[in-house]
Amino acid sequence: MNELKLKAIVLSSIDYSEKDKIIKLFSLEEGIISAVLKGVRSQNAKLKFASQPFCFADFNLIKKGDYYTVTSVNLEDSFFDLTKDINNYYMSFSLFEVVQASLMENEANPLVFINVLKALKATCYDKIDAKLVLLKFILGMLKVLGYRLNFNTCQVCKMPFISKIFLNLETGAIVCPSCTTPNCKQMTNAVYNLIKTLYSTEMERLNTITVTGSVLNEALNLTVQNFEQRVEKKLKTIKQL
Ligand SMILES: [Zn+2]
Repeated sequence: MNELKLKAIVLSSIDYSEKDKIIKLFSLEEGIISAVLKGVRSQNAKLKFASQPFCFADFNLIKKGDYYTVTSVNLEDSFFDLTKDINNYYMSFSLFEVVQASLMENEANPLVFINVLKALKATCYDKIDAKLVLLKFILGMLKVLGYRLNFNTCQVCKMPFISKIFLNLETGAIVCPSCTTPNCKQMTNAVYNLIKTLYSTEMERLNTITVTGSVLNEALNLTVQNFEQRVEKKLKTIKQL
């Protein structure tokens, strides 16, 4: 049995036994873990807030074998406003899905952890369109996973782009018309430009980007398909929008 302190964000929670909940946490130090939150379903439970998705806090836990039990929680930010807007809510859940599709349990990744916090802040406080934040986040995750996009030349023949541009969903590469295979989707100039701009824009500076809804939808759609192919998993929440 050992005690530990983790900086973590609540991804989800489910009821467990009569009065408890099991929460899934994404922690800076240990990656994704599950922990029991005892007595939290009784009416005046002190730690009720710690079962809410998006809750960012310092969690004190006891680890016994493979099981974690929460002993106390110091709230940093509840990101409460995210729950007020259904769009932001679903988008932020999609972001959590991306994290869970990319990292194994107990696989710590400080960079991804910081990106999640930045993304939640951008949506909650800077009022950036949650879809734009999600798109930026997935592009960042693809980089983390080793699938870098090359915008200046075709990733196959290395020639500069002069006419149409395609995304090869089989490989995740941006290619020219001569290098397409059956599983390639054409990118319109607007989509290509948006993704290229987003690639080099920090999450904190997303407010400098203006984009129409249809271009954003198209870019997100294509990037989600690319991500799903790379990790061989489907994102479900985003399809509910
Ligand atoms: Zn080519």
